[in-house]
Amino acid sequence: MLNEHDAHFIGGRWQKARSAHRLPVVDPATEEIFASIADGDAADVHAAVSAATDVAGEWANTAPSVRAESLRRLADAFEARIDEISATVTRQNGTPISIAKAMQSQVPKNYRYFASLADSLVTERQMRTASGDALVRREPVGVVGAIIPWNGPQPLLAWKLGPALAAGCTAVVKPAQETSLDAYLFAELLAHAGIPDGVVNIVTGGRETGAALVDHPLVRKIAFTGSTAAGQAIAAACARDFKRVTLELGGKSAGILLDDVDLDAFRPFVYSACAPNTGQTCRALTRVLAPRSRYGEVVDMLGETLAAIPLGDPTDPATLFGPLVSQRQRERVESYIELGRKEGAGLVLGGGRPAGLDRGYYVEPTLFRDVDNSMRIAREEIFGPVVVVIPYATEDEAIAIANDSEFGLGGGVFSPDRERATAVARRIVTGTVGVNTASFPMEAPFGGVKKSGIGRELGPTALDAYLETKTIFRGV
Ligand code: NAD
Repeated sequence: MLNEHDAHFIGGRWQKARSAHRLPVVDPATEEIFASIADGDAADVHAAVSAATDVAGEWANTAPSVRAESLRRLADAFEARIDEISATVTRQNGTPISIAKAMQSQVPKNYRYFASLADSLVTERQMRTASGDALVRREPVGVVGAIIPWNGPQPLLAWKLGPALAAGCTAVVKPAQETSLDAYLFAELLAHAGIPDGVVNIVTGGRETGAALVDHPLVRKIAFTGSTAAGQAIAAACARDFKRVTLELGGKSAGILLDDVDLDAFRPFVYSACAPNTGQTCRALTRVLAPRSRYGEVVDMLGETLAAIPLGDPTDPATLFGPLVSQRQRERVESYIELGRKEGAGLVLGGGRPAGLDRGYYVEPTLFRDVDNSMRIAREEIFGPVVVVIPYATEDEAIAIANDSEFGLGGGVFSPDRERATAVARRIVTGTVGVNTASFPMEAPFGGVKKSGIGRELGPTALDAYLETKTIFRGV
């Protein structure tokens, strides 16, 4: 039965959408439409922004410790429903269930971490000056528009909503049209957490809904994760009113295997570093840089490892490669695979649709060798399970290739010599880079440089993006 949703979460209750337009929700593993959502228009967005504006002053004036308690209750409420939320995410975007659960399990930790930042937030400091004193205040920016992609909807929402609420901002959330149903579940948690009505509002819809949120004059900050193209449009729109904006965009990150790399030690990272979530991860190391002296060995190891990763039904706990999120995304990935062939790269693995799966937006894990960094498959974000291996002769050349990119989001350096790898990591132009690891801690800043975005999420400075500094100069 089709699950039809025709409401937005505004002012703490479900309000029937003003727009009559609906968008289908498709199960990428079966290609079946199983739900529909309201495609919010400017009037829906206005209602949500008005609700967020109405309570902005009251929420800003609550003590940070009270907001921290709300975030902890939100974490508890989320934790109690992880299985249900994970299954809902998997049904919408095809993330393998074991990965979906691992991603959702980070979310309560994120909210608790932001609660701890709220606890330590100093909202006013006194400064002595030559002419008296000054009170330097840190005040919430106001209403935040949070625009979320489909690849990790709840964690990427937590990265924005957590610091926004901790800082004292209210918010309007615009989930991706592919993954709005988990946002409906999330709305139910807000009341459990005792977060006052109107502090968090959710308007579903597509690109136009997001654009209406960005354009709304009462929104003071946009926090966005998604494509570089959308990020450029959002940054331009925010510039008109000098809205605050953080953008976490695409990537084409390099994983440098140094010439002393232990391939057996690297093997367990192949999935999590190079193609997590069926390659639909912004920080994936989709350009592997291999020393010429060991090129064949690296290509063989990557091919064998990727081929052995279980692919299939995303609801099967053993699966690690599921379908891509949508037909459009599969077409995009397939067009890049075709392009790679035309550009003269050598296809080592995959390149087609997996045998025996005639329904679902599946693509085989694909590995290209003999790739030159000037090829488009080495320069553009593909966002699928496609890895390219680029040879290099010297460490300096590896660093030059890694940095010869429009992007700068992730990166990785692998070597048994941790200090040598760290010295290389220091020279990579990027927002984040791992040494012998594919994971990153939420206690450290995360974000990109160049076309990978501006601003940082997570880490001890995460609240800064949601706070304005105000100075009160005082005479005697
Ligand atoms: P997208 O960037 O178009 O969409 C992401 C979110 O932004 C969605 O909620 C969407 O409705 C909204 N949006 C899009 N354009 C907007 C605009 N002009 N103003 C306001 N909101 C807007 O991503 P997509 O179309 O779903 O995917 C396309 C490509 O983006 C992918 O192939 C991939 O390369 C990249 N992508 C990157 C990430 C990431 O984490 N960096 C996430 C998703 C997609």
